Amino acid sequence: VSAFEAVELAPPDVIFEITAAYDADQSTNKVNLGVGAYRDDSGKPWVLPVVKKADAILRDDKSLDHEYLPIAGLPSFTEASARLAFGGDSVAIKEHRIASLQSISGTGANHLGALFMSKFYKDGKTPCYLSNPTWANHKQIWNNVSVPLFDYPYFHTKTRGLDIDGLLSAMESAADGSIFLLHGCAHNPTGVDPTQDQWVKIADVMERKRHFPFLDVAYQGFASGDLDKDGWAIQYFVERGFELIVCQSYAKNFGLYGERVGCFHFVSKNAETAKKIKSQIEILQRSEISNPPAYGARIVSTVLNDKALFNEWYLESYAFEFRYRCQNLREMSHRIIDMRQKLFNHFQKLGTPGTWNHITDQIGMFSFTGLNGLQVKKLRAEFHIYMTQNGRISMAGLNSSNVEYFAKAVDQVIR
Ligand code: PMP
Repeated sequence: VSAFEAVELAPPDVIFEITAAYDADQSTNKVNLGVGAYRDDSGKPWVLPVVKKADAILRDDKSLDHEYLPIAGLPSFTEASARLAFGGDSVAIKEHRIASLQSISGTGANHLGALFMSKFYKDGKTPCYLSNPTWANHKQIWNNVSVPLFDYPYFHTKTRGLDIDGLLSAMESAADGSIFLLHGCAHNPTGVDPTQDQWVKIADVMERKRHFPFLDVAYQGFASGDLDKDGWAIQYFVERGFELIVCQSYAKNFGLYGERVGCFHFVSKNAETAKKIKSQIEILQRSEISNPPAYGARIVSTVLNDKALFNEWYLESYAFEFRYRCQNLREMSHRIIDMRQKLFNHFQKLGTPGTWNHITDQIGMFSFTGLNGLQVKKLRAEFHIYMTQNGRISMAGLNSSNVEYFAKAVDQVIR
């Protein structure tokens, strides 16, 4: 008899269950709108051309070996990551107030942040507030470090937009100094972000209540195609003088999902505190992964630190708009924006009941369609269309060949 007989069978991860069911489906019309990974217009995973170039450079580099990276990661990578998140002219960078550590993608950065907060923020029992709804993994990550969790209102079911009043009043009534986990851009799963005016209101309350901002930024540049626009909230909070955490992922904006490339940043009030905090997080990192993986960080570092490659990934100047096809970030983000428009147009043409402007208002990888559980089930059973029960679709799963099919299917299950 096993000493672990009492262990209960856990349910499979929702997203991976959807992919398995999709894979097993024999229909030629099948559509997978579950997993949050970019697909090109033919429905295939896309290796960014700039990543291929960086890869070739690394292969030719005879000075590289397989030695361990430092515990905090590849310095050229963490430094470039900080410039990306906080801006090249960031005062916080100049004043050495940021502790940056390479992490196992965005998930690892979230975990490192949660672990640090549980050990060093007050008594470790200060509650963390998560948006309702949020990325399902947030709950597991914070539960693992035994931090009490609460929800704050986020999605307004009627308007399918932000419930700003609910959000602000939750911040008002939370105990002073609570942790608030905010999605820096392209909220998952809703695709609904605060406007800049709303971010100002959020910052006002958080400052007055001395809440701690924990910013999860998994889609910078991927959401709008504009790094500054998507990074606005981060830079605004830093300018306001908050101490905060930023979790960065390069899964989406570099298409490096499986390489697990991310970065954790703690922005502190002064260089001295940042240094102490970094030393403690290094100990946490050491006990969990010892040293972060090298390959993905080298790819990202090669691109971010080379002007020509960087411009191919992302060109700031709109005067160069005509080169957009070869700007990798814009190609991905604009294909998704284009799909939002096409989907909306199809609904208009079909006269599908209800309002659909939320499809084009929402941003990033996901859209909260407003479809209910029953409709989602019908789409799967009758049309071979796969998505999560809450009606979230991954926009990246739509393309020129299936967007009309999807719109018609939705139209039918709604009527
Ligand atoms: N946070 C959010 C809100 C996300 O949507 C994701 C990606 N699904 C992540 C973090 C991190 O993903 P990864 O660990 O693959 O970078």
